[in-house]
Amino acid sequence: MATLAIKSIRKSFGTVEVLNNINVDLEDGGFLVLLGPSGCGKSTLLSIIAGLETSSGGDIVIGGRNVNAIHPKDRNIAMVFQSYALYPTMSVRRNIGFGLEMRKVGADERDTAVQQAADLLQIGHLLDRKPGQLSGGQRQRVAMGRAIVRDPDLFLFDEPLSNLDAKLRVEMRTEIKRLHEQLGTTTVYVTHDQVEALTLGTQVAVMKGGIIQQLAHPETIYDRPANMFVAGFIGSPTTNFLRGTLARSDGGLQLHHAAGVLLLDRTNQDVDAYVGREVVAGIRPETLMVGEGSAALSGRVDVIEPTGPDTMVVVNVGGQMITARLGPKDRPATGATMSLSVDTAAINLFDPVSGDRI
Ligand code: ADP
Ligand code: MG
Repeated sequence: MATLAIKSIRKSFGTVEVLNNINVDLEDGGFLVLLGPSGCGKSTLLSIIAGLETSSGGDIVIGGRNVNAIHPKDRNIAMVFQSYALYPTMSVRRNIGFGLEMRKVGADERDTAVQQAADLLQIGHLLDRKPGQLSGGQRQRVAMGRAIVRDPDLFLFDEPLSNLDAKLRVEMRTEIKRLHEQLGTTTVYVTHDQVEALTLGTQVAVMKGGIIQQLAHPETIYDRPANMFVAGFIGSPTTNFLRGTLARSDGGLQLHHAAGVLLLDRTNQDVDAYVGREVVAGIRPETLMVGEGSAALSGRVDVIEPTGPDTMVVVNVGGQMITARLGPKDRPATGATMSLSVDTAAINLFDPVSGDRI
């Protein structure tokens, strides 16, 4: 186990900069998720941590040791990729133990380590099979077993669940969380799946265009996104952005939008500079409920999407489409007028030009 420090890491391929001054401090036993859209630099950063790619500047420090000049195989890390890269002709037992075999670990010690990892992953009954005789989820477990037996300082995962179907992905996500709680190995995990990020991470780095947009605990990322990109990337359905002008009357704060006035409850001094100016209110679909009042939005129901546990209702509020996540029994008629009360404490205001949270 070890801490990980990523210090001022930069990377360019030719003239194209793909990582711009990346800084992260990860605690011993922490679980860092690198989250962002395809092409934002997640895998490149992971490869630099692993030593498979050289950086254009900056330092990687694992357990207090600067590893910039250390060969990948001497960094004591274990990587699990999206493609499991199992040896097809070898048994599961040999696949899991192969790294130990290469390092000349004796057969007895190897068998014990393989058995322990297999028990942990609940694949003890599959040890004599070949990878071709396993399901996708089982192969993923074998790939994780191979990482576990090495007892590394650091686990690196690059979208390990992307090849699995939706149900299995959820199961394996739980499995990875359980493993991390049992083993406590410091982990860096790359994904473009926000749910994986929020459920697994002790820290989440939301990336875009080679820049960390926000690095924080999942709850902070969700409740207090640093900017409109983070607010829009996290959450499904995504955050509603309602444009309007900020006003103060009788000491209360209001958002004047195209279809009316929404009373806000921010007493925060920071917003004073924005009074009289255009702002964007970020409103999560689950903070809306059927209801009226001064903290409500109304408009015509545009679309209704029942999903089973929830009903997604899209309401046209003065030309801006607002999605509400309502209960399974809330089924307004399309075209009807509907009023939605807002949990105004959960609203985040953003600067429309910079996109940053106010
Ligand atoms: P992610 O894993 O977030 O999808 P990557 O780290 O794979 O993103 O890639 C980040 C950017 O760097 C992309 O624009 C990609 O095209 C570019 N890139 C990655 N590897 C190379 C390479 N070896 N040569 C040139 N460009 C690369
Ligand atoms: Mg990638």
